[in-house]
Amino acid sequence: MSETTLLIPKIESGIVIDHIPAGKGLEVLEIVHSYPEMRQVVATVGLNYASQKLGRKDMLKLQTHSLPGRVMEHMAMVCAGVSIKRIENYKVVERLVVAVPDNIRGLARCRNPNCITNHERDVQSRFRCIDPTSKRFACAFCEGIFGLHELSVIVPVGEHLSARE
Ligand SMILES: [Zn+2]
Repeated sequence: MSETTLLIPKIESGIVIDHIPAGKGLEVLEIVHSYPEMRQVVATVGLNYASQKLGRKDMLKLQTHSLPGRVMEHMAMVCAGVSIKRIENYKVVERLVVAVPDNIRGLARCRNPNCITNHERDVQSRFRCIDPTSKRFACAFCEGIFGLHELSVIVPVGEHLSARE
């Protein structure tokens, strides 16, 4: 129960992203930092902790008070199952497990080259989850069915790219 507090120093307040599958911690950190409003957030990365549930797990501590909705959606796409805890005065005040999203709006590109979302700039892509277990999604425009891993995530336009160049 106190595993977290033993292995990573307690923080007075912030966000802990826990139960990240081992090896994915840095990827999750990169996602968080790819959003401009999160770029300055101080982060502590913990890798390869023993976990009863996962065998090994990674963990992130972020010195911020909340995660923007689009960051949560992005994480739901790439690492559903992680848990997010909000800490205040050294206590967990909120805890949630990131679920496979019901809908993905404007965050992923349709795999169908003929889909209108790949041709009209003003059309925002939209996918609906048709089976959370197999993580299959249907495009709202072309009705194509895709696995979650097949949907490539659209990085925040311009913001992310300009930071890398
Ligand atoms: Zn489509």
